[in-house]
Amino acid sequence: MDFKDHIKIIEDFPKEGIRFKDITPLMQNGKVYKQAMDEMAAYVKKKDADIIVGPEARGFIVGCPVAYSLELGFVPVRKNGKLPREVIKVDYGLEYGNDALTIHKDSITPGQKVVIMDDLLATGGTIDATIKLVEQLGGDVVGLAFMIELAYLNGREKLKDYDIFTLMQY
Ligand code: 5GP
Repeated sequence: MDFKDHIKIIEDFPKEGIRFKDITPLMQNGKVYKQAMDEMAAYVKKKDADIIVGPEARGFIVGCPVAYSLELGFVPVRKNGKLPREVIKVDYGLEYGNDALTIHKDSITPGQKVVIMDDLLATGGTIDATIKLVEQLGGDVVGLAFMIELAYLNGREKLKDYDIFTLMQY
């Protein structure tokens, strides 16, 4: 299946010069969405993960269905001020902006094998920050999985110490 047939490219969104990859057409097609999640789940299974972590909001779109299908837990990473209990926090830079990400302090048990999932790898800033959160809690990041990789932004270079799986590359 060519998943790229179900991704729409939007010029100059959300800012001029950005070619935004819209994943919503893929999600709209139940068969294609399921196939994409099944292929990502096969990777998570191969890595023998104990738990999945995903940054808001699109990390939930891929992380939760895979967690459900493998009967694993899912831990949300959220923007500052969104999680209700005690958190740890890291600052990070994005393809378009700056922010801080947080995770509940008790969400990972030291030594747990973690796969981090998101819809898209661009510069790697979001995932780099997510890795820092997981590792500060003692988690062992055994893999990173994305639907889309923007290879021209060299996210892999920033994340070279980690195993990376992607369904589509641009
Ligand atoms: P990075 O931190 O790797 O530079 O950017 C990746 C993050 O930004 C992901 O969480 C992703 O959801 C979002 N993002 C950046 N560019 C795009 C894009 O073209 N399409 C989509 N769907 N998300 C993007």
